[in-house]
Amino acid sequence: MSAQSLHSWGHYPPFPQTAHACHWRAELAGTRDALVHRYGSTLAFGNGRSYGDSCLAASDQVLHLRALDRFLHADWSRGVLTAEAGVTLDEILALAIPRGWFLSVTPGTQFVTLGGAIANDVHGKNHHVRGTFGCHVRRLSLLRSQEGRQLCSPDEQADLFAATIGGLGLTGIIEWAEIQLTPIASSQIDCLVERFDTLADFFTLSAELDQQHEFCVAWIDCAATGARSGRGVYLAGDFAPDGGLKVATKAALSVPLTSPLSLINGLSLRVFNEYYWRKHPPTRQHQRSDYMPFFYPLDGVHHWNRIYGPKGFQQYQCLIPDAQAQPAMQALLDAIAASGRGSFLAVLKRCGAVASPGWLSFPAPGTTLALDFPQSRALVETLFPRLNAIVREAGGRLYPAKDAQMIGEDFRRSYPAWQHLEAWRDPALGSRFWTRVTT
Ligand SMILES: Cc1cc2nc3c(=O)[nH]c(=O)nc-3n(C[C@H](O)[C@H](O)[C@H](O)COP(=O)(O)OP(=O)(O)OC[C@H]3O[C@@H](n4cnc5c(N)ncnc54)[C@H](O)[C@@H]3O)c2cc1C
Repeated sequence: MSAQSLHSWGHYPPFPQTAHACHWRAELAGTRDALVHRYGSTLAFGNGRSYGDSCLAASDQVLHLRALDRFLHADWSRGVLTAEAGVTLDEILALAIPRGWFLSVTPGTQFVTLGGAIANDVHGKNHHVRGTFGCHVRRLSLLRSQEGRQLCSPDEQADLFAATIGGLGLTGIIEWAEIQLTPIASSQIDCLVERFDTLADFFTLSAELDQQHEFCVAWIDCAATGARSGRGVYLAGDFAPDGGLKVATKAALSVPLTSPLSLINGLSLRVFNEYYWRKHPPTRQHQRSDYMPFFYPLDGVHHWNRIYGPKGFQQYQCLIPDAQAQPAMQALLDAIAASGRGSFLAVLKRCGAVASPGWLSFPAPGTTLALDFPQSRALVETLFPRLNAIVREAGGRLYPAKDAQMIGEDFRRSYPAWQHLEAWRDPALGSRFWTRVTT
């Protein structure tokens, strides 16, 4: 056992986790049982790319599974891959791209583990076409403290499968999973970029482009006020038909140390957003891009979360159902701009109707907005309660993978299946998030 200290990506809430590393599947049950015996419960920890407290154990003692990083089987004729849960998406891509395969669904960072991607049932720019990551999980092996090893799939132990996809790591330890990849002819992306002036224009573009392109997302200027409010840049793309199958080189940049103060403030935010808006052409443009800057723009700088300083930051990601999406998004943007807080890269995306196999999966038909805020008292006491009220009134919900502040009542209202998950929860496992929102 090692004793490394781990944090969530936002470094908030500040509860350092003592890491108990497992290198072999055969060690999992014994290490888990020893932790339960000593501390009452534990939780699997992947690569700590969750922002808030869903990856923090209630006991602050985590089973660190990043070292379970072996590939177990691959059928390259069908694009079916089986790997241990600690394998990261970039490791999968390094193997799959040269053979003409890509992840069917990928989040905005490739540094998440297979186990973490399943436990949060992550989504990406193609949600409107392919649904969530869990839609492409064929089978998985789950280690439970009372029943032992369970094989689950949509047809085998179907309830346990549905509880585990998006199950926040609470139903057992995922040992390995078999996933379906998607064929590609090239690792490059043909994309189009178009600026829009208002939220209404965003919805018009989305209605047009989402039907034609697999990957769609928008950046929105959350610092803009008045007539500029709701302006942004729409990005749509598809894998190119040619251009080679090349794995991206590793990031060369890194933020070496946590800055003593947050480098994000009202001024830097307005300057960046204005620059980013002007950098894009006013009319529709077609470009070709490598997959890396298209899917993973933030992965180009390692440890970028350090720019937020020692207090850390929180991401706010909500989903608003279609019927209320436009007025609620406008109300959210107005409240954020008025507060002078917000982020460089606020992301807006319409999710589609492909049903997720997970009971507690976040995506649903509607529009999602995600943005980062430096941690402060005013954020927690003033802005977030205001945003939460708008989301509540619009019948929306927040994403547990990003959350550190949602109140229990909102969680239980917006995820009514939480009691099914609680019924399937492994008593050996518990998270700070789950304790916060269910008790
Ligand atoms: C820059 C950035 C961009 C992102 N973009 C997106 C996005 O576009 N879409 C999206 O959906 N998410 C996005 N995320 C969030 C991220 O994809 C998820 O939080 C993901 O679950 C993190 O995986 P991880 O391996 O780091 O797991 P961790 O954060 O360490 O853990 C996440 C959860 O998985 C559980 N877990 C981990 N391993 C196992 C296992 N073996 N068995 C059982 N449970 C396990 C943990 O208990 C925890 O509940 C982004 C995060 C970052 C930092």
